[in-house]
Amino acid sequence: MTFEDFQLNRQLYNAIDEAGYQAPTPIQEQAIPLVMGGHDVLGIAQTGTGKTAAYLLPILMKVKYAQGKMMRVLILAPTRELVMQIDETVKQLAKYTDIRHIALFGGLGPKTQIEALQAGVDIIIATPGRFLDLYSKGEIGVKELKTLVLDEADKMMDMGFMPQIRNILEVIPSKKRQNLLFSATFPPRVENLSHEFLEFPHKVEV
Ligand code: AMP
Repeated sequence: MTFEDFQLNRQLYNAIDEAGYQAPTPIQEQAIPLVMGGHDVLGIAQTGTGKTAAYLLPILMKVKYAQGKMMRVLILAPTRELVMQIDETVKQLAKYTDIRHIALFGGLGPKTQIEALQAGVDIIIATPGRFLDLYSKGEIGVKELKTLVLDEADKMMDMGFMPQIRNILEVIPSKKRQNLLFSATFPPRVENLSHEFLEFPHKVEV
């Protein structure tokens, strides 16, 4: 299989080439068509398998152009390191698009983050706590949200983020939202979360 099989666009193919990806990894082969098809997806994959690009490439296809002020995609991850890493991958793959993205996590002064949010953003990558903090201050509009990703869901459970995630699920629109859940392991509590969070999910596992 090659990336050309996925009907992505030229801007993404150029970025994929520059990133040095030669062929899709197994999780990408399985997940990209499902995410592009609009399905909810449960992906069981470790870091290092290419799982980030597996959900990002179809998301970047869907978002395509910068539009409006409010985020359309929210990616939640447990730690600042992972948020920064995902944001780097977005930067790399969205390089030839005008898609606007921002990483939100604690410890940084919120001023620049708030300014960027006010200027308009398409994709937010955040830790649950920082997201809620800025949301409760009225700095994040959620009405246009179409895609929600929970990355490293098992780690989010381990770190006690379930109440925050529930809170976020309550405040964002639920209609016509695509949900993607990625986890390195699949213990019962992640399975329970998947039942709560995903609608008719397709499971992919590597
Ligand atoms: P991840 O599992 O998302 O943390 O990705 C691990 C690493 O694999 C990252 O550094 C990516 O840049 C790289 N990567 C992702 N997809 C591919 C691919 N198809 N070919 C080669 N490297 C890749």
